[in-house]
Amino acid sequence: DSGVPLIKAGALTTCTHLPYAPFQSKDDSGKVVGFDVALIDLVAAKLNVTQEIVDTPFEGIKSGADLNSGKCDVAAAGMTITDERKQVLDFSEPYFDATQALAVVTGKKVATLDELVGKRLGVQGGTTGEEYINAQVKEKGLKIEVVSYRDLAALQQALVTNQVEAAVNDLPVWNEYIKANPGKVEVATGFDTGEQYGFAVKKGNAKLLAEVNAAIAAARTDGTYDKLYAEWIGE
Ligand code: GLN
Repeated sequence: DSGVPLIKAGALTTCTHLPYAPFQSKDDSGKVVGFDVALIDLVAAKLNVTQEIVDTPFEGIKSGADLNSGKCDVAAAGMTITDERKQVLDFSEPYFDATQALAVVTGKKVATLDELVGKRLGVQGGTTGEEYINAQVKEKGLKIEVVSYRDLAALQQALVTNQVEAAVNDLPVWNEYIKANPGKVEVATGFDTGEQYGFAVKKGNAKLLAEVNAAIAAARTDGTYDKLYAEWIGE
């Protein structure tokens, strides 16, 4: 017994927002798998419990509502650590570096945001990508129609069915999409937002946060992190 109180006996309950491959998505059998899932599995193993995943909208995760209400013990959602979110969540040490990227249907030539003036640009609601694009559009006074989709799957579907001219999301999820659907879309340009992902616990849950940080640190030291990175992210 690690002395960490969990909301459900025998389980470490994880809030996430599906799909967000390669961090969390359902495999062919319906099981939720991915890089985040594998890392939180290490925490669960350390606590001698199983991981139980709750799929829930990103808004409730990033606002702290789901952790505060006891819907889950930990949040693992490819979630960028931001100052705003730090007000309402306690984040682990960073476990992944990411940037934003603009994807287009293969062959479409778009190199900058300026080229999207008068066109529709898709983003995912509630994400740092949406925030970045809205800030850029405002700052540069660009007349781009920013269209917000409820999840990554809806955004990607909108892109490949030409409902939007281009779409912005975290680079690793585009790389994964391209691996899974060769030839359909390409990354046209990147935005170096310098983001870092963190797992989150309810504010003040120092015991569980320490366990999460210890599991990440141990995985980095013993090679497990690199092995999982190679398995889920690639080079
Ligand atoms: N990393 C992005 C963010 O934190 C996207 C996360 C997600 O959509 N799951 O906003």
